[in-house]
Amino acid sequence: MSIFKKSEEQIQTATIDELRHIINSINLPVQAQSTAERELDMLSKINPAAAEYTIGITYLDYLASLPWNKKTDDNLNLLRASQIMNQRHYGLEKIKERILEHLAVKVLMTNQKPRILLVDDEEIAIENLQPILAKDGYRVFTANSGSKACEAISRTVFDVVITDLKMSGIDGIEVLKKAKNVSSDTQVIMMTGYATVDTAVETMKKGAFHYITKPFKSSEVKSVIKEALKKKSASQPTKGSVLCFSGPPGTGKTSLGKAIADALDRKFGRIALGGIKDEAEIRGHRKTYAGAMPGRIIEEIRKAGVINPVIMLDELDKVGREFKGDSASALLEVLDSEQNHEFSDHYLDIPFDLSNVMFIATANVAYNIQDALRDRMEIIEFSGYTEDDKIQIAMNHLIPKQVHAKGLEDSPPIFTEDAVARIIHEYTREAGIRNLDREIASVCRKKAAQIVRGHEPGKEDTVTEDLIECYLGPRKYYFEVADEENKVGVATGLVWTETGGAIISVEAVKMKGSGELILTGSLGDVMRESAQAALSYIRSNAVSFGMDEDFFKSSDIHVHVPAGAIPKDGPSAGATIAIALVSLLTGKTAKRDVAVSGEITLTGRILPVGGLKEKLLAAKQAGVNAVIIPAKNSVDVDSFPENIKDNIKIHLADNLIEIIDMVLIDRIIDRK
Ligand code: ADP
Repeated sequence: MSIFKKSEEQIQTATIDELRHIINSINLPVQAQSTAERELDMLSKINPAAAEYTIGITYLDYLASLPWNKKTDDNLNLLRASQIMNQRHYGLEKIKERILEHLAVKVLMTNQKPRILLVDDEEIAIENLQPILAKDGYRVFTANSGSKACEAISRTVFDVVITDLKMSGIDGIEVLKKAKNVSSDTQVIMMTGYATVDTAVETMKKGAFHYITKPFKSSEVKSVIKEALKKKSASQPTKGSVLCFSGPPGTGKTSLGKAIADALDRKFGRIALGGIKDEAEIRGHRKTYAGAMPGRIIEEIRKAGVINPVIMLDELDKVGREFKGDSASALLEVLDSEQNHEFSDHYLDIPFDLSNVMFIATANVAYNIQDALRDRMEIIEFSGYTEDDKIQIAMNHLIPKQVHAKGLEDSPPIFTEDAVARIIHEYTREAGIRNLDREIASVCRKKAAQIVRGHEPGKEDTVTEDLIECYLGPRKYYFEVADEENKVGVATGLVWTETGGAIISVEAVKMKGSGELILTGSLGDVMRESAQAALSYIRSNAVSFGMDEDFFKSSDIHVHVPAGAIPKDGPSAGATIAIALVSLLTGKTAKRDVAVSGEITLTGRILPVGGLKEKLLAAKQAGVNAVIIPAKNSVDVDSFPENIKDNIKIHLADNLIEIIDMVLIDRIIDRK
């Protein structure tokens, strides 16, 4: 029994013998066992009142509480995995397919027996060795000449080739060359009856893994094969072995990770990396410090109680900024399969094998993950949901879940689709469905209160569109642009933020001054440069726009992007800023319900932008009628599902003149 949870007094009274008994009964790995024994010997010599005694006891107890070799058996039934994911998650077809492919590779790798080719022109040597290796679980192929071996190597990639050196015709050296040519990862073991240092050195120089002299003991061959296979697996590329789910919040990343764990019958754990500021939180503190603790990784393994849980590393893109110590190296050691079988936690001070853990990382923006880490991951992009998707998810998943969570199963409220649509339009503005879930929970809570107060269940149990305001109060969001009036110097744009797409209004005004461009509204450097480029383009073409060529000499221009609390950056607002400026300087109004996204060059060309899917979703939510995007983005648009493109006009433009023609209205408004 663990004494970890016992009170301090009880820990003091725990005898060394009791601990020794626990430690001996759990079959620790060799290094952990010897460390534990050394610690026990040390503790038996010191005064139980000393601080070191308590530190030592706590340490040993922690060591004993870790699941050094406890494992759950994987359920690798892909059909079942697919059913579990479909039951819990609506849509996400491509993502589910990618996950199933990932699991399929895992199934194959798990079931694959290492392939060994035995080559010897003495049949008896093959006959002796083949059954021994087959019994050890290897797939054994044989060849009784060098030429047959080369043929086999051309057909199949072997993990290990064991070949005799001296053979008539094609000899072992030729077989070695052929094997290395076909796959440099294949490990070749040379057998020779004429072992001399020279031949051994020669074969090793040519790339053999090892050599064995005849006659040999089967145990010797077995151990050399094991070493060769270890080398082979270490040299295999690890890219793609860790999945990383990247996308806006509330799009199902964490819950899909949990579904994978359940599909595999594995335990599940989650580590939020967002707030982590110190390497010690990952690797722990040395136990000599008072109050030292292991890191979050090892602690999560202890909580899971097995060495093969699925662990989600949430918000990997938020690590690195303001991080003390080397975050990349600590996390690389966790995620890299070449290193993680010997993960070192400072508190444990003995390597712990993390190679059985299935790590899944999440990020809002994969681009922000440090390069070394991102290279080791297979990024799966999650994008925001359309309104139809959200309604389906709400009707089939969120409402039943909240009805259950609020104890309403006996008289469940019936939400109409229009009611859900109203919640989406008027109470949320998001790419995912977190707030939608929250608002539905809030309606269910109010329903629960009504029932407890003795309200007669009946007609009111249907939650209709009209009742939403009674439950949720005044609407929180308006169709911000659709409801606005067209103005001079105000243009609508689309930008992309970590939480999905967003609509912006760029405002520009002109006042007496001396040629200064003032930019405000939490704009990043790239966005500021876009504004400069837009202004330079307009100034250099002032005459053709019908403006006074010297307009800038005697005036200052102020460009402001409201909602300053949201940091904005990126080049895609360039075209919108240009439109606001042209509108201001020509006095023509700009259509508010047409949103523009595109990078502008000094010659007025419009360059492609990213995050279009999220931008289109945000445009629809805000009631925009049409969007104008760079012509070079047309391939992206073609690849989007139809339900993202319906109810909104999408225009393509190659240069600013085309956008001006579509957005500016040839009517000069009398500005008061
Ligand atoms: P993320 O990790 O991307 O922020 P979560 O996995 O926490 O998002 O999802 C938030 C909530 O939305 C969860 O309750 C989840 O079950 C639900 N959810 C998200 N996507 C879907 C979907 N496609 N189908 C059903 N429920 C979903």
